[in-house]
Amino acid sequence: EAKKQGKNQVVFYSESHNDAIEYRLFVEQGLLNALTNHELYATYQPIVNTGGDIVALEALCRWRNQDMGDIHPSSFIPIAEETGLINELGLKMLREVCIARTLLKDAGLGHIKVHLNVSILQLNSNALVSKFVAFLHEFDISAEDIVLEVTESAMHDVGTRRILRQLAAQGFTIAVDDFGSGFASVAELTESYTHIVKLDKSLMPGKYGPESKRVVVDSLIQLCSKLGKSVLLEGIETTEQADFARHAGCDLMQGFYYHRPVTITELISAFHQQASA
Ligand code: C2E
Ligand code: MG
Ligand code: MG
Ligand code: MG
Repeated sequence: EAKKQGKNQVVFYSESHNDAIEYRLFVEQGLLNALTNHELYATYQPIVNTGGDIVALEALCRWRNQDMGDIHPSSFIPIAEETGLINELGLKMLREVCIARTLLKDAGLGHIKVHLNVSILQLNSNALVSKFVAFLHEFDISAEDIVLEVTESAMHDVGTRRILRQLAAQGFTIAVDDFGSGFASVAELTESYTHIVKLDKSLMPGKYGPESKRVVVDSLIQLCSKLGKSVLLEGIETTEQADFARHAGCDLMQGFYYHRPVTITELISAFHQQASA
């Protein structure tokens, strides 16, 4: 009986393993098509200052497939990175961001910057800098209006750091994303080309969380401020967390509590509605 069960379990596991492989293959194949047939698009989540004003938007990639529905970035971004499709995806997102900036400017919202997530794997070639600059020229957009978000791991590598420095020299603002989710090497905060530090969601103190978490975040915010960086707390979902962010002295805030990601047209029409209300 035990043997039989064991055998069933093996069958069960290998079936789910096959499902996983099949899903992976689907994503890999699908992503290739998605890049050309407009299944990928951008949503934008507002970033607010201490006064609650929207000062920037973070572009977040979305994939809607006829058969599979919405596929989450945590499923397809890693596969895009493994297959090298991240380069194409990244340029597509930059194009989207340039279009969004143009729409914002035309709507009288030119003061709103746009954040773009850049994978560490995109930062492995010098060609990236000239490609990015070419896009700005094509759309007549200033690099000062774009913030590039890179995870802290991008700063461990000499080659990657060099490209980030070149991008900063072109006028792009560089933000460290998800700071505190990995090894959080404090030395990276001394890099002069990073202007914004986004503290990772996982650092966010919960209502009943340990006091020590609060101390860590408080101190990180003070440390960043002393180094002349803006601190952005992301993943704010509750009133308590918003109060915490305000009291801790964050410069910028982002999270479902304030705004969810929406398309640029939805966002601009919401602005117009607000203005005419
Ligand atoms: P990220 O750059 O750290 O983006 C923030 C993520 O947190 C987004 O997830 C956003 O929807 C989510 N979020 C925002 N507010 C809240 C909140 O209050 N609570 C919670 N629980 N989550 C919140 P999303 O859109 O699923 O993206 C996940 C990750 O995928 C991103 O993390 C980023 O690393 C990556 N990603 C998304 N778009 C792109 C892209 O265009 N290029 C690259 N390279 N990576 C991207
Ligand atoms: Mg980000
Ligand atoms: Mg983040
Ligand atoms: Mg992330």
